[in-house]
Amino acid sequence: MSPAQKMWHGVCGMVFPGICPGCQGVAYEPGSSPCCEVCTQELARSVTPLYCRRCAADAGPFELTHLRCPRCRNETWLLSGLVRVGRYDGLLADLIRRFKTRGWQQLDAYLGSLLSAAIAGAAWADELEALVPIPSPWQRRWWRGFWPTGLLADAVARQLKLPRVDLLAARRYWARQVAQTPVQRRENVRGVFRARARGTDRRPAICLVEDVCTTGSTINEAARTLRQAGFDRVYAAILARTGGPDGGTLSAPAAPAPERAGPQPPPAVDTA
Ligand SMILES: [Zn+2]
Ligand SMILES: [Zn+2]
Repeated sequence: MSPAQKMWHGVCGMVFPGICPGCQGVAYEPGSSPCCEVCTQELARSVTPLYCRRCAADAGPFELTHLRCPRCRNETWLLSGLVRVGRYDGLLADLIRRFKTRGWQQLDAYLGSLLSAAIAGAAWADELEALVPIPSPWQRRWWRGFWPTGLLADAVARQLKLPRVDLLAARRYWARQVAQTPVQRRENVRGVFRARARGTDRRPAICLVEDVCTTGSTINEAARTLRQAGFDRVYAAILARTGGPDGGTLSAPAAPAPERAGPQPPPAVDTA
């Protein structure tokens, strides 16, 4: 940014100070982050590099073996790689909830910038040729009035200068995943996507874009659909990962596992 641009932004910041989306207070120094300094620090608490690059679950520094955490070490893996911005808690969760359900669509650029930074830090970032948002059923888009993952993918596409390609479409409506067990979630989204194109011999590398993931059933189903359509380099970028009812995996078990008793998914998290 040139000195003249910095001065212009400074003047604009004084005359039209930004409103921090975290605390609704005034952010006097609008820059790359629209959040105030306090909220930026609060946000950093949910953003940790210590997570599994397969299932996105939190992992301790000594838990990762060949980048597989104990939860997913023995699971089948459909994604070629994954990045996440942070845990679904604190301010990051608040921002995502506002973006998805309270009409704060203007947060797309900021949340998109967090996602872009996560993708840019991945070893496979240079391979990517397109971004593919996870579809929502039309009924949910109509009810919300917009498509959150589509907006996010647009923001990331602008920032990374990649095309957004709607390679996936929803075949049918599927119920919200809130309060479902991992097995119910897998069954709920089985066969809900169809690929709009088939992979060619060139097999372009694509990255799925998702906002929140709990057990990874939706993103896993999307990866399965794309692989069946001939795309063999399918990566994923998610904004936030919840703790999940079983620690969660993004795996595809050969046979449905018996339903296990355990804590229910956290309320008010719609991962569809
Ligand atoms: Zn703030
Ligand atoms: Zn894992």
